[in-house]
Amino acid sequence: MRFRAWKAFAVLAILAAACWQGAAADNRNTAKSQGAKVNETTGAIVKITKTDEEWKKLLTPEQYQVLRKHGTERAWTGKYNDNHEKGVYVCAACGLPLFSSGAKFDSGTGWPSFYQPIDESHIGTETDRSFFSVRTEVHCARCGGHLGHVFDDGPPPTGLRYCINSTSLEFVPAK
Ligand code: FE
Repeated sequence: MRFRAWKAFAVLAILAAACWQGAAADNRNTAKSQGAKVNETTGAIVKITKTDEEWKKLLTPEQYQVLRKHGTERAWTGKYNDNHEKGVYVCAACGLPLFSSGAKFDSGTGWPSFYQPIDESHIGTETDRSFFSVRTEVHCARCGGHLGHVFDDGPPPTGLRYCINSTSLEFVPAK
């Protein structure tokens, strides 16, 4: 009886390991197909690091302010707030695909809003305690560029609202 339990445990452990490997492989394939370099063992996106001076040269002053200094564009002034075309929004700093037009919705806030990222692994989050509130900051998983914040008052199916600066994005229309 005891031996049987041990066998069952071993089978479960093998299945769990296979599943984990499968998930890493899946991430490698999606991230790769979307043009990101990934770690072959872990499936994690290979990060891009640059000095402040290098970013300053690469980005416009507005992009630098938002992406590297956690700035926020004024509501209703961003170029993508009202964009309803089909395509993909990529990181303005490193080109990583971040959001699909299919997940975009009109939130009425004056900033482009999405209910989910194109791939969970392309977005990083951090607790932001500035301005006397606790918010969840979102950034590009590859270059660390600040994108905006995520709130839990979004529409179905996720109930999330990714409130993103247009400045942090570049829109690539569908062909
Ligand atoms: Fe990026």
